[in-house]
Amino acid sequence: MSEAGGPILHCLCGGVEVRLSSLPETVGVCHCAMCRRWTSGPWMAVQAPGSVITGDTLVIYSSSQFAERGFCSRCGSHIFHRPKDGPELAISAGLLPEGRLAITREIFHHAKPLWYRFDASSRKRSAFGMALEWGPKLAWRRFARLWRG
Ligand SMILES: [Zn+2]
Ligand SMILES: [Zn+2]
Repeated sequence: MSEAGGPILHCLCGGVEVRLSSLPETVGVCHCAMCRRWTSGPWMAVQAPGSVITGDTLVIYSSSQFAERGFCSRCGSHIFHRPKDGPELAISAGLLPEGRLAITREIFHHAKPLWYRFDASSRKRSAFGMALEWGPKLAWRRFARLWRG
């Protein structure tokens, strides 16, 4: 366990370390085209804001106007995805030890190819649903930043 409260995870080569803020029990799946290109499949992740990610081989890639992705430059392990503005932090579920993890949420479900699917009774969200959730949140953060000056 780390001082942050959860277990300490690492990438395939050990170059990148993740000190989890807690031990999550739910997994989210993203079927978007970017995640599928990034991971060669849907990306499965846990939400663990406040986790501390360190390592000499950690590279942060700006993948869009809104978000960035972290990976290990030596072994290629996918580590995290987070918005550039905001506390959310998704950590690759594959880094976690075996546990009582369950898929509870699938996002960008409309972008999922037909050749795979999960046998999970998860909440499935489309791009429209995601826009409804994230649009006001991002707009509010932009406004709050302008307000603070
Ligand atoms: Zn590595
Ligand atoms: Zn995605």
